[in-house]
Amino acid sequence: VAKAAGRNTYRFFESSMQADALERMRLLARLRTAIGRGELRLHFQPQLDLLTGAVIGAEALVRWEHPELGLVLPARFIPLAEDSGLIVPIGTWVLREACRQAAAWQRDGLPPIVVAVNLSVVQFRHGDLVETVTDALRESGLDARFLELEVTESILIGDAETVSRTVTQLKSLGLKLSIDDFGTGYSNLAYLKRFAFDKLKIDQSFVRDMDSNADSCALVRAIVQMAHGLGLRTIAEGVERALLVEQLVALGCEEAQGYFFGRPVPPDEFAEFLARNTARLIAPTGS
Ligand code: C2E
Ligand code: MG
Ligand code: MG
Ligand code: MG
Repeated sequence: VAKAAGRNTYRFFESSMQADALERMRLLARLRTAIGRGELRLHFQPQLDLLTGAVIGAEALVRWEHPELGLVLPARFIPLAEDSGLIVPIGTWVLREACRQAAAWQRDGLPPIVVAVNLSVVQFRHGDLVETVTDALRESGLDARFLELEVTESILIGDAETVSRTVTQLKSLGLKLSIDDFGTGYSNLAYLKRFAFDKLKIDQSFVRDMDSNADSCALVRAIVQMAHGLGLRTIAEGVERALLVEQLVALGCEEAQGYFFGRPVPPDEFAEFLARNTARLIAPTGS
């Protein structure tokens, strides 16, 4: 009986694995044509200065408007795109679109903000990255100081000379570089001394429960102190409650991003948010 049950379990597992592989294949086939069909979208999530409350940046987050599945989140297609190499053209589209949008908002008279774009390690190792970024800036007319690239610690695994050269070339364009999901990846911190990063994005997993978990709070405090010692700014990700904001301010964290301030939204909605937030800040108090 046990043997039969084991075999059934195995068969069930096998067929669900096949279904999964099949689903991935279909999704990948469709993803190959997604750019050409205009199915990719960017949503924008505000990044706030914790001292002034001003929106000073927006993270561009890619979505895929699939004809049958609706809005597909990156967790479902970025890994596929990375495995297949499709992340390179997708990433190029994201960079161009983010720069174009940020420049358009400035031309519309909205307060200038920094647009933050996620880079996959695959893009980072691809030879054309510096050229792609240069082109996106030139085409859009966006000043490089309004572009920030978010990389994860995973880019540091590999040939240090190549990493160093790419970081130096990107920085020489005048843009900003930040480490995304800081504290969850590579453990050799020497790279912070060697490479010219501007900002650490403190991972959501440390921020989320820092009001109830002393260990999380200790980690956030240590990251902020270390960043300041090295002359880097910090931004807390995943800020969902007011209490977290108070704690972050007390720890000296400069910026925050999270559902408490705003979810990622389509460009039109973000422009409204930006205009509203600015109006609130410049309105005389008591009016
Ligand atoms: P990430 O770069 O760490 O982006 C932050 C993620 O956390 C986003 O998920 C955002 O919607 C979510 N988030 C923001 N605030 C909160 C909060 O208060 N609570 C919670 N629970 N979540 C929050 P999203 O948009 O699903 O993106 C997931 C990941 O996909 C990103 O993580 C990034 O690694 C990747 N990704 C997104 N867009 C791109 C892209 O254009 N290129 C590449 N290579 N990766 C991308
Ligand atoms: Mg990011
Ligand atoms: Mg992150
Ligand atoms: Mg992430």
